[in-house]
Amino acid sequence: MSMIRRILVTGGAGFLGSHLCERLVKAGHDVICLDNFFTSQKTNVQHLLHLPNFELIRHDITQPCWLEVDQIYNLACPAAPGHYQHNPIKTMKTSVMGAFHVLGMAKRCGARVLQASTSEVYGDPEVHPQPETYRGAVNTLGPRACYDEGKRAAETIFVDYHRMHGADVRMVRIFNTYGPRMHPYDGRVVSNFIRQALTGEDITIFGDGSQTRSFCYRDDLVEAIIRMMEHEEPGFIGPVNIGNPGEFTIKQLAELTIELTGSKSRLVYKDLPADDPKQRRPDITLAKQKLGWEPTIPLEQGLKTTIDWFRGIDLSHYRAPTPNY
Ligand code: NAD
Ligand code: UDP
Repeated sequence: MSMIRRILVTGGAGFLGSHLCERLVKAGHDVICLDNFFTSQKTNVQHLLHLPNFELIRHDITQPCWLEVDQIYNLACPAAPGHYQHNPIKTMKTSVMGAFHVLGMAKRCGARVLQASTSEVYGDPEVHPQPETYRGAVNTLGPRACYDEGKRAAETIFVDYHRMHGADVRMVRIFNTYGPRMHPYDGRVVSNFIRQALTGEDITIFGDGSQTRSFCYRDDLVEAIIRMMEHEEPGFIGPVNIGNPGEFTIKQLAELTIELTGSKSRLVYKDLPADDPKQRRPDITLAKQKLGWEPTIPLEQGLKTTIDWFRGIDLSHYRAPTPNY
């Protein structure tokens, strides 16, 4: 039988965090979910609240917190462009001060801490697909920099705590992940297209739709980050790319969404946001080698499940879109 652990999940009420909490609670661990609900709501974890091995703390990770745990998954950070650009200064603080706070806690408790980094550290990549060794092309001054540079700085803080204090750290670089419980108004492409298709609104393609992304279903993603947390190999801390190498243009995603929903929505073209990466696909050789992991759920299958979930929710229960300026 595997060991029961005390596990902190920051950002645990979010799209990925709530699934992670669910998996860890089911495995019998004592789970503390910490969240300030900036981009999520309590309903994401409501079904766990009555369980004796689940605890919810409303807290902002830019402020210190004092807990005793064995493992920390650091997911607290707005992830959708519209969300992280809402208050870019706060986004940077969340990544950087959040990293200091979880690492300080990890150092004090001897806990292992995993950082949810991102494919955005590669910026608008000139190398395709992206291996972990690629150093990226981020515009430090652009509207995405608060997130990209915040996550890059967090990786630096993690590796320095490891080198300087021997902190037990892990880093994963997550590529676009989707699935049930995405915020329907987060502005990300999968949630936007499904919501638009189901309500008969126009489907908004930014640019000409030829830019690509690789979409990973959330269950595959959660499996990979748990494997990385549990991976025992002295000195191996990552970062490891986690994503689905299947690559699609945004136009293909729009057409597939229309096909699977049977929608009559029209495709309309809007301006491409500044610094929008033209292509993105993970090289997952390292994840295969080290974690024995690769995704199992193809886009069409994952999209169907996600569409079914979107059909079942009441949109009026979700807060209106966060303005993106
Ligand atoms: P999400 O917005 O649903 O979840 C983030 C959670 O963090 C939310 O519950 C939010 O309320 C919370 N949060 C934000 N700022 C906080 C703060 N200052 N203090 C405490 N809590 C705070 O997004 P997600 O898709 O679940 O992303 C989770 C993590 O994974 C993020 O760190 C994100 O950067 C990373 N990631 C996600 C993707 C993806 O495609 N989903 C890709 C790359 C990286
Ligand atoms: N996008 C789009 N229409 C939308 C939302 C997004 O065409 O309604 C595009 C966006 O310009 C980007 C891609 O879809 O090229 C993925 O956007 P998302 O915000 O999901 O994530 P990103 O990978 O850019 O962080």
